[in-house]
Amino acid sequence: MCSFGTQLKKTMLIFENTAELQKYLKSERHQQRSIGFVPTMGALHQGHLSLIEKAKENNDIVVCSIFVNPTQFNNTQDLAKYPRTISQDQELLAKQGCDVLFLPEKKTMYPNPTTTTFSFGNLENTMEGAHRAGHFNGVALIVSKLFHLVQPNQAYFGQKDLQQYLIIRQFSQDLFFNTEVICCPIVREKDGLAMSSRNLRLTPSERTIAPKIHEALQLAKQSLLAGKSVHNTKNTIQNFFTDLKVLDLEYFEIVKSITLEPIDYVDDSFQISLCIAAFLGEVRLIDNVFLYNHKGVF
Ligand code: AMP
Repeated sequence: MCSFGTQLKKTMLIFENTAELQKYLKSERHQQRSIGFVPTMGALHQGHLSLIEKAKENNDIVVCSIFVNPTQFNNTQDLAKYPRTISQDQELLAKQGCDVLFLPEKKTMYPNPTTTTFSFGNLENTMEGAHRAGHFNGVALIVSKLFHLVQPNQAYFGQKDLQQYLIIRQFSQDLFFNTEVICCPIVREKDGLAMSSRNLRLTPSERTIAPKIHEALQLAKQSLLAGKSVHNTKNTIQNFFTDLKVLDLEYFEIVKSITLEPIDYVDDSFQISLCIAAFLGEVRLIDNVFLYNHKGVF
């Protein structure tokens, strides 16, 4: 498809090849230009674009990657049906002022079967890690490959995938990546639904139900802030989903935002996150909110 230096409007460069990407970024680094990086799986929406915007604010050039990473999918149907909207993505990125798009093929990122495995201790034994076997191993594989290629000064991730952010931040520190890992707020639709590429897979009637996930999180937040216990709040949310019938709750967790330890009681000396995963038909959606709006977390 595109080769070295293919230009779209707004002079966005597109690379499919690692050597050409690295050569270009090396020359940028030699000119003391800082690199902000936003890794994605495409089907871009305003949530992704908010990360590009933040990266632009803080860096001289912004690199975005689009790669639907097979090793992080534990469900073959989910991988096969993952939305792909590449021409639209390129337009959006160029409009947003992204400087470089890295668009590798599978054989570029995985020239050989990979045997390296990671372990993230307690951070992965809950929520997404507990329900999607091997997911974070796949995430860490691809993100570490991309960090090696791009060597960004800063990399931007969404709070939407809170556990992913925490795990990437941890292994980046453990492995001495010279990259600051930054978490950005969740961008939502007007009705509260967290933007997600997977929302494109919802039928029109499922799309009207999907905001109930955010409604449940708000309900849980109000319950805890009104002094109800963790146990009581969990029951309320369980009943909310049971009554709804159409949304199949996979988990609802109330955890410390930094360690993801489940909490037994609310204490405002630490930030707390409320996290949900639920199936709507075939589509698995996740969302989370912080309990306290006023507190910085990371
Ligand atoms: P994905 O393409 O789903 O792998 O997401 C790429 C990055 O965008 C990840 O860091 C996500 O956490 C982030 N992201 C996805 N949805 C949103 C959203 N609604 N708001 C902010 N960031 C998001």
